[in-house]
Order: sequence, then structure tokens, then C-alpha cells
Amino acid sequence: MEKFDVTVIGSGPGGYVAAIRCAQLGMKTALIERYSTLGGTCLNVGCIPSKALLDSSEHFHNASHNFKEHGIDIPAPKVNIKQMIDRKRTVVKQTCDGINFLMKKNKITVINGHGTFVNKNTLEINADGKKSQIESAKFIIATGSKPSAFPGMEVDKKRVITSTEALELTEVPKHLIIIGGGVIGLDLGSVYGRLGAKVSGVEFMDGLIATLDTGRGKELQRVLKKELGFEYYFKHKVLSAKTKGKEAIVVAENAEGKKVELVGDYVLVSVGRKPYTDNLGLDKAGVKVDNRGRIETDHHLRTNVENIYAIGDVVKGAMLAHKAEEEGVFVAELMAGQKPHMNYNLIPGVVYTWPEVASVGLTEEQLKEKGVKYKTGSFSFKASGRARASMDTDGFVKILADEATDEVLGVHMIGPRAADMIAEAVVAMEYRASAEDIARMCHAHPTFTEAIKEAALDATGKRALHM
Ligand code: FAD
Ligand code: NAD
Repeated sequence: MEKFDVTVIGSGPGGYVAAIRCAQLGMKTALIERYSTLGGTCLNVGCIPSKALLDSSEHFHNASHNFKEHGIDIPAPKVNIKQMIDRKRTVVKQTCDGINFLMKKNKITVINGHGTFVNKNTLEINADGKKSQIESAKFIIATGSKPSAFPGMEVDKKRVITSTEALELTEVPKHLIIIGGGVIGLDLGSVYGRLGAKVSGVEFMDGLIATLDTGRGKELQRVLKKELGFEYYFKHKVLSAKTKGKEAIVVAENAEGKKVELVGDYVLVSVGRKPYTDNLGLDKAGVKVDNRGRIETDHHLRTNVENIYAIGDVVKGAMLAHKAEEEGVFVAELMAGQKPHMNYNLIPGVVYTWPEVASVGLTEEQLKEKGVKYKTGSFSFKASGRARASMDTDGFVKILADEATDEVLGVHMIGPRAADMIAEAVVAMEYRASAEDIARMCHAHPTFTEAIKEAALDATGKRALHM
């Protein structure tokens, strides 16, 4: 039986990154993956394919709605959904192939098959019925998550679908009903809304994305309504979703307890994801899970079994690829005897609508809850020359800073390229910058990032220059 220093189960962004860092640090490393391609949810059916379709659909939307104003006259563009999905597949394949290359480069042994613990040091791998075993001194569980559904939501993967099927549609829905006003619903709703589908969202809460502060939630809702005609049914709890012939029917209960029926041709169930530990043999290894099925860990991401660690979507915390990656590096370095650090407060969150939404640190609601006295500064993209040049004037940047010390405590934005711009806020907060520090730094002109500087100027004595 082959023996390894460390075996990583699952090749998503948590697992493959952990494997690379373990190998870099000199450990003999194995990576186990049940699917034939590496990269997990993120590369195969998550971040990468959804962004490929978001980019394609944004080009279509611009060609249909914005080119004319830019002085580009073209005949009305048509969607070639087959080509769009084929391009997405190519992007996914290239990205997954890149992981194979990285595994070879780092001399990581990749074994395809489903891993099941036999005991805390032995894993059985089942590759289409062909079983083998390996031994390992340490394990990192990075088995990720799967879409959830509630009773009554009959996901037949034809008309009532999850994100995985929504990335492979062969037609643009006429009327897409989205259950859940969270990130997946917004990402994929944007794709099909831009391609011409009528989009209706049914959400249990009173607004979009629970973690979003009210200001940005309302702005996002306004822009999605204006640009794509999104209709939202807030405070509606979905009771059932099912396919009837070529129709997909959703029944929800509104705040008054009345039943509301919506009929479309597709229903996307995007009500969250659940940790995936099926047939992993956790009982054989003695690893405990919590009441939500997540693997329990301590602050060092070590499970209750000394040689087994767990990271990414299968443990508590935000279900984000970059959070999984950071945890992978953290655990590898810890195993190598280093003293790494994870700052969960500085994991940025992004929604890839247009305008994009991005955040890091605490929101006003959280600061109020903690009783922290803070000041705010904001700047609207309407006043940005760069945003006017690109016709992207929706949205704003908001900076929250400690009232006494001026330390930046949170940065929240909705606007063009917010997903990329949030990195400046992460760097600033990692180095515990004050709003004054950001305000005094030179930002290239004309760029969207000037809005961050202006918001910082506004936070420190209301001295924004262009508003
Ligand atoms: P996963 O990526 O889920 O990988 C787990 C892997 O483990 C899988 O390949 C699985 O096959 C394998 N596995 C499971 N059990 C076994 C076993 N017993 N034996 C062998 N292999 C096993 N996050 C972002 O940060 N940004 C985004 O833009 C973003 N977009 C998303 C869009 C969509 C549509 C979806 C669904 C998710 C998106 N996410 C995004 C979330 C992101 O994909 C996850 O947070 C991330 O993939 C979690 O990484 P992970 O390594 O923990 O697990
Ligand atoms: P989510 O948790 O973001 O949103 C689910 C929404 O569904 C919630 O707002 C909830 O109130 C609502 N809901 C639940 N049951 C309902 C019911 N019966 N009726 C009406 N509404 C109901 O979940 P998601 O959108 O499925 O995304 C799953 C995970 O994937 C997220 O946790 C996220 O971290 C990750 N993800 C991230 C990105 C990104 O970073 N851009 C993109 C996609 C996915």
C-alpha cells in the first residue's frame, strides 16, 4: 500500500491549493478526486463557467443596448446559445487542464475515484468499482458542497434546475423563475436576463442577499429592475416548485399567508448549498459533524481527530473559493510547523452582477450591533469621469472608519469593476490603514478607483473634491 505524508480529499480550490502548498513544503502529497476533471465546483460548475457566461451575456447586452449610444450601429444581435455554452466549456477545460499541469509540476500523485475512510490513516478509493487503498500520516478533507433544496422543490434537472443545469441550457428561457435572492440567483439571473429572459425572483427575506447592507441591496434592486426588468417577490416563502409539461410552476406564500402561483418555463433553485460528505466514511475515521452537516474543526481547522483537517465549503464560514484557498494554504503551513494566520474579517465578498457588488470588513448594521462609533464617507460613480466615459454611472463606494482612530473598518461598493477594486480596500485594511491614509494616496486618473479615494476624503472631514 502506497504511503503519503498528506492526502487531500477533493480537488476544488481548497483541495488543489492545499496540495500544492503541501508539496512546496516538501511533503509527499496525494490528491483524491471522484470526478474525471480536477478543480471541483468552482472550476467545473461554479465560479469559472458562471463568469464565462456572465462575460458573454454582458457583451450581448451592451451590443443590444449600449453600442448605439457609443456611435456603433449594428444590426440587432442574436444569441447563439450553443456557441456561448461551447465557449464556456472551452474556458472550463483550459482551466481544469491547468490544474493537471500544476499537479504534475509539483509532483503530486493524483488518484481519481471516490475516497472513503477505512480508519483514521487509511483511505479506500473506488474508481468505477475498482478499489485500492492508500495510507497517509495526515489528511485534509476538502470535499466541498452540493446545491440544497427544500421539501416541495422537485428538482428534476429539466425544468426545475440547479446552478449546474443552468450553466448548460440549450435555449434562453422565456420566463426564468429564481427561488432565492442570493448570489447564485443574481449571477445566473443576470446571465439569462441579459440574453432576453423575463426574470422573476422569489425571496423569503425582505431584500437581496442577507449579508448586503440595505443601501447597496436597494441600489442593486433598482439597477436590475431598470436594466433587465427583474421582478422580485420579497417576503415570499416558496412552498413548492415542479415541472408540468413544458411549464415550471412555483407556489409561494406571501407575508399575509396568501398563496401566489408563478408559471415560467424554467425554475432555478438557488436556496443555498450544503456540505458534501456522502460515503466519506467519517464514522470510520471518528470525525464529527455539526447539526448542519459541516465538519467540526477548531481554530486551526483540525477536526476532533488529531491527524485530520478540513477546509472550504465542508466547514463553517462563507462558501467562497478564495476562503477555501486561504484555508488550504493555512493548513499546509501549519502542518509544516509554520505559524500562519487567517483573518476571516478580511475575506472579500463579491456579486458579479453589473454593476458589481463588493465588500470587505464590517457593515454599518454590524458596527451598530457591536456598539462601535464610526463615521462614513461615500462617493457616487455619477461624479466619476471614468464612469461617465464608459457609461457605468450606477452605484457608489462607501467607507466606514472608526470615529476616534480613523481606522478603516469596512468598505462597501456597488459599481463598475467593484470585484477588482475591492482588493485595494483589502490591502488597506490588512495594513490597518486609516481613511486619511487612503485619501492621501495618489490614484491614477481617470480610473474607477478614484471613487475609493473620494469616499475616503468624504469620510475624513467631508472633503471630497469632485462632489
Ligand atoms: P469544491 O469546489 O466543492 O470541491 C470539492 C471536490 O471534492 C469536488 O471536486 C468533489 O467531486 C470532490 N469530492 C467530494 N467528496 C469526495 C470523495 N469522497 N472522494 C473524492 N473526491 C471527493 N465562489 C467564489 O468565491 N466566487 C464565485 O464567483 C463563485 N461562483 C460560484 C458560482 C456557482 C454557480 C457556484 C455553484 C458556486 C460558486 N462559488 C463561488 C462557490 C465556490 O465554487 C465554492 O466556495 C468552492 O468551490 C469551494 O471549494 P472547495 O474546495 O471547498 O470545494
Ligand atoms: P444564498 O445563501 O446566497 O441565497 C439563498 C437565498 O434563498 C437566501 O436569501 C434565502 O433567504 C432564500 N431562500 C431559502 N429558502 C427559500 C424559500 N423557501 N423561499 C424563498 N426564498 C428562500 O445561496 P445561493 O445563492 O444558492 O449560493 C450558495 C453559495 O454559493 C453561497 O453561499 C455563496 O457563498 C456561493 N456562491 C458565491 C458566489 C460569489 O462569490 N459571487 C457566486 C455563487 C455562489
